Formats: sequence, structure tokens, C-alpha cells
Amino acid sequence: MAETLTNWAGNITYTAKELHRPHTPDALAALVAQSARVRVLGSGHSFNEIAEPGDQGVLVSLTALPPAVDVDSTARTVRVAGGVRYAELARRVHEHGFALHNMASLPHISVAGSVATGTHGSGVTNGSLASAVREVEILTADGSTVTIGRDEERFDGAVTSLGALGVVTALTLDLEPDFEVSQHVFTELPLAGLDFETVAATAYSVSLFTDWGRPGFRQVWLKRRTDQPLPDFPWAAPATEAMHPVPGMPAENCTQQFGVPGPWHERLPHFRAEFTPSSGAELQSEYLLPRPHALAALGALDAIREHIAPLLQICEVRTVAADRQWLSPAYGRDTVALHFTWVEDTAAVLPVVRRVEEALEPFDPRPHWGKVFTTPGEVLRGRYPRLDDFRALAESMDPAGKFTNTFVRDFVHPLS
Ligand SMILES: Cc1cc2nc3c(=O)[nH]c(=O)nc-3n(C[C@H](O)[C@H](O)[C@H](O)COP(=O)(O)OP(=O)(O)OC[C@H]3O[C@@H](n4cnc5c(N)ncnc54)[C@H](O)[C@@H]3O)c2cc1C
Repeated sequence: MAETLTNWAGNITYTAKELHRPHTPDALAALVAQSARVRVLGSGHSFNEIAEPGDQGVLVSLTALPPAVDVDSTARTVRVAGGVRYAELARRVHEHGFALHNMASLPHISVAGSVATGTHGSGVTNGSLASAVREVEILTADGSTVTIGRDEERFDGAVTSLGALGVVTALTLDLEPDFEVSQHVFTELPLAGLDFETVAATAYSVSLFTDWGRPGFRQVWLKRRTDQPLPDFPWAAPATEAMHPVPGMPAENCTQQFGVPGPWHERLPHFRAEFTPSSGAELQSEYLLPRPHALAALGALDAIREHIAPLLQICEVRTVAADRQWLSPAYGRDTVALHFTWVEDTAAVLPVVRRVEEALEPFDPRPHWGKVFTTPGEVLRGRYPRLDDFRALAESMDPAGKFTNTFVRDFVHPLS
């Protein structure tokens, strides 16, 4: 019987009737070589059609391939296979006495799929997760493999590449010495008088949460490296109970709070690796814009909060340091990221997404590639100064467009 293939949230049904799961690199290469169109499905945590292979296209998962995680203690790097998720990578890296610089809110997402979309955590000095990548190994259209390292110019197009260059079979990431983090939650931070730059820099990673039901932030999560001073946070009161960012959801699913120190990978994500989110009754959108606009952008959202609040589960505000990946939403600019977890009603949510985009328009927002957005390709293209370079790279590595799809074509190759 044909499988019905959906993303994690269930809002996207892929047209492919089958998910191919090759067991060996040779079987994967043969599948790629003999197929006209190919897309990889990572862990399926994107909320749009970025992974959709299109009619007659082949959807392939790398989860049946050996899940290699090879730490090189001397070089301080880890080589991770294309199907591995952050939870497993982080556990293994920690076992070897090392750390990744940052993690997203959920550790269940695949490494290759995350860096392909510019996925990020928070922290004014922390680049997106892709900024830790130093080498990428890509299986190309004819079944051959290329390795692209950080010293090559095309590397800057090769990591956050929307899956458009080929199948990423392995990534090599920089490691740093293991560190501990303590997590401190505060409640009710006013928007009026907010010194965003100072607040965002109070800890290694800072997240502000609001439901936009009223001005200001319901919660602030500070993730402090224990080798850095305890932050002073005079603007809000410490939480008196363990919190989940979404009101009414169980805090047991969240990583340890109340300043209890623990390993980086058990504090940097908001959610515990051992909590298994099945399918999410939610949609997500996110817009990344220059950090100096943070306060003005928050003001613009505050002005339309009566439209946002009824459909919102939670809004999270984070920061991302500028990076060099041509298609990264944080490319070339220190960034504030305005995230929305919506209810799962696409028809009701889309008009509000449009309204949010209109409100943020003056601030040159780049939508998260893996989330719901309605910004037209022609507008988006103007927001990526190195798009022509990416297009040339894609055409040189994949001249027949085997790894392209409608989503990629709309934004990258409008004329093809
Ligand atoms: C609950 C939840 C929490 C999230 N938290 C965050 C967060 O904190 N920060 C943030 O920035 N984002 C976050 N996201 C968004 C998420 O990180 C991105 O959507 C990310 O792309 C998901 O990775 P994935 O493997 O599930 O990707 P998929 O949706 O499976 O794929 C994404 C893209 O990557 C490509 N791809 C995947 N693997 C490969 C490969 N091996 N080779 C080539 N192409 C590949 C796919 O073809 C597709 O184009 C969250 C999403 C959810 C559902």
C-alpha cells in the first residue's frame, strides 16, 4: 500500500508515494544517478514544501545508512553522516569531552536538514548552526561525491543550500571544549523602556517569549555558560515554578531550569531529547532582520497584536550573529529573529502571517526557509545579495536541476 508521507506537523503531504531508504552509500548513489528529480527528507520538521520532490520526483531518507558520528579529538572536529539528528550528535560529542557552539530549541531535528535552512539557536555572539560547519560532502547528480571545505569560495553557498546542490552525505563541524550551562527563567519583562541590546547580551543565549495578549514578554530564558559571570537581570522577576514557553503546556518536557548547571546539550535546547514530540499541532513562521531594528520591529508587532494573539501559541525573540552563508537568513548582518508558533489552522493563520510580513516590511525581513511565509520570490530575491552566486553554483553542480523543486525554483531560478 502506498505510504502517505507528511512532514512532522502534518500540514504538508508530499506527492511522492514512497520514501526511499537506501541501506548503503552505493544504493543511494545508484538511486540518485537513475532518478530525474530527487529531494532528501531530513527529519521533516519544516513547515512548507521545501522538501517536496514534485511529480515523478524521488523522496529519499538517509536514516537507514550508517549513522556515523566520528569525533577527531586532535583536530577538534566531528564528522557526522547526513541522516543523523542533533540529539545523537550532541550526546556523542559530549561523551568525547567536546561541545557544539549552539543548538536549536529542539534536538530532534536532523543536522543536514537544519543547516540547509539556516536553523539557529540564540546568542548575540552565536552564529547559526551552519556556522560550525567546516566541510560538506555532497553526492551530486551523476552519483559522484564532492567535498567542499571552508577554504573554498563556493563553500559559502554550499551549506545553507536548501538541499538544492545534491544529497549531503556528511558534514564536518568545529567542536569546542565541553562547557556547562545553567538556565534561568524570569517572568513579565515590560516592552516599554526595553533596552534590547543589553537584555539580549545578558547571557550566552537569551530568548524572550510573548503571547502578544498584552504588551511585553511573559518569560525570559537566559542560558548562561557557567564559565561566565552570573547575569544580573533587574528588569523582571525570577520564575517561581518550572516553565514551558507555551502557556498551559507541561514543563516536564523542558530542559532543567532554576540555575541548575548541566551539560551544554541538556540546557541549550528548550526541550529535552528524551521527550518525544510525535506530530506537532502547530505551524511556525519566523523573520530574521537586522538587530538594530529589534525595538522598532517589536513595536510594529505590538501595534497589530490583537490580530496576532488569537492565533498564536507563542512568539519567541532570539538573536543570531552574522554569518557568511549566501542563503542564510543571517547572512552578513547581526540578526534578531522573531518567531511565531501558531495554532495548526493554515487558512486562519495565513492572513495573519501576511499582516506580520507587512508590519515587518520596513525592516528588510528574511523569512526562515523552513517555516510558513508568503513573501513573494521577487521580493525575497532582493534580500539576498549573493543570490546570483548561489544560482551559478547550483547550475554548475546540478546543471539539469535534478535537486531543484518548485520551492527552490520560485526563489532561486525564477526563469527556468
Ligand atoms: C518543534 C520545532 C522546533 C524548531 N526549532 C527551531 C529552532 O530553534 N531554530 C530554528 O532556526 N528552526 C527551528 N525549527 C525549524 C527546523 O529547524 C527547520 O525546519 C529544519 O530545516 C528542520 O530540519 P529537518 O531535517 O527536519 O528538515 P526537513 O524539513 O526534513 O528538510 C529541510 C530541507 O533540508 C533538505 N535536506 C535535509 N537533509 C538533507 C540532506 N542530507 N541532503 C540534502 N538536503 C537535505 C531537505 O530537502 C529540505 O530542503 C524547528 C522546527 C520544529 C518543528
